[in-house]
Amino acid sequence: MEQKIRVLIAKPGLDGHDRGALVIAQALRDHGMEVIYTGLRQSPLQIVQAAIQEDVDVIGLSSLSGAHRTLFPKVVEELEKRNAGDIPVVGGGVIPSEDIPFLLEKGVRKIFTSGSSTVALAQYIQRLVHPKESTIIKPPEKIAHIGIAVHSIEHALGFYTDVLGLPLEGVEEVKSEGVKVAFIRIGETRIELLESIEDTSAIHQFLSKKGEGIHHIALEAGDLESRLKAYRDQGVPLINETPKSGANNSSIAFIHPKAANGVLFELCQHTEGTE
Ligand code: ZN
Repeated sequence: MEQKIRVLIAKPGLDGHDRGALVIAQALRDHGMEVIYTGLRQSPLQIVQAAIQEDVDVIGLSSLSGAHRTLFPKVVEELEKRNAGDIPVVGGGVIPSEDIPFLLEKGVRKIFTSGSSTVALAQYIQRLVHPKESTIIKPPEKIAHIGIAVHSIEHALGFYTDVLGLPLEGVEEVKSEGVKVAFIRIGETRIELLESIEDTSAIHQFLSKKGEGIHHIALEAGDLESRLKAYRDQGVPLINETPKSGANNSSIAFIHPKAANGVLFELCQHTEGTE
């Protein structure tokens, strides 16, 4: 049987609240991990000693005190001093987002914010410890296109092709969606103009409710099926639980806008032979 992943959860610094740390410890146990909790007010040195002694795979640091900028890097440093720099350190708690790039630069692998789910944390640790066995869901590669709802592609085209001078790559009807789409190339990405050809289409509804404008952002993202599953496991609301076919021989799925501050994201995977 495979050995359980061992995680040390530690609270460096002086703050005296460990409810959050305990919740995380329990969540990781629920995901089948062995969790050792150091208790409150540990020094970076104590944490590193405990991690080495307990032979853990990962250290999770939680801080509410605001001292993460000094204490998290100190833990990484102490690990390196003791030839244990291969034990990855992740952090969470109350960490202002502007501190995250600094902490990553200092060798902390990842910071989880209050918006992160414990499922995301558990999945991340699993990937970190067993990169080969887990189905790694890579971040989306780029913006495939930006979808803009228009009343008439013919009328809208002039701005893009004449004023901006961008090339029109193709126009096609996607009957299943009740739309006609025009792809305009801009560098590595595209602008997708969407015109409704059926009164029941989502674009028709969008136009009558909000008028013309940006409708969605499409991200180029492989492994669509397992990606959707991984997102769903993290509690991300999806409009499409399984991929459907989109324009340009692509498989697509939409994420519900309530997952992303009101922005509708499309995941887009192009099949072999196209891009
Ligand atoms: Zn699209």
